[in-house]
Amino acid sequence: MTRTGGCRCGAIRYTLSAEPLATRLCWCRDCQYWALGNAAVNIMVPRATVAVAGTPRHYDSVADSGNAMRRSFCGDCGTHLFSESSGNLLNMVVRVGTLDDAGGIAPTVVIWTASAPAWAHIDPTLQAFPGQPG
Ligand SMILES: [Zn+2]
Ligand SMILES: [Zn+2]
Repeated sequence: MTRTGGCRCGAIRYTLSAEPLATRLCWCRDCQYWALGNAAVNIMVPRATVAVAGTPRHYDSVADSGNAMRRSFCGDCGTHLFSESSGNLLNMVVRVGTLDDAGGIAPTVVIWTASAPAWAHIDPTLQAFPGQPG
């Protein structure tokens, strides 16, 4: 199944030609910036199956693991779209909120629960990890 998505203003568009490998909620401190205080909802997809139209801006940083992280966002509307890690060259992360239709996608895993705020509801039916899963 092919899925499409893009940023809020439409300057960046993408097509995914494979179903997600995983869908995760992420409570890491970085995601709390970009999900505006909440957990981010992310899908992991094979990089080779993502086609991007438009030119995202990038924010590069180093994760606690030492991996180089690259986050991509629209320079016009600020929507965060992708994140890529030097520790996983085969796959990349797409922010679920940017899909045109996220039907059928639901998280099965929640990660970085140790950095979630005290009020966060951690769904007990999801597989949970206090930090980055091995
Ligand atoms: Zn935009
Ligand atoms: Zn995160």
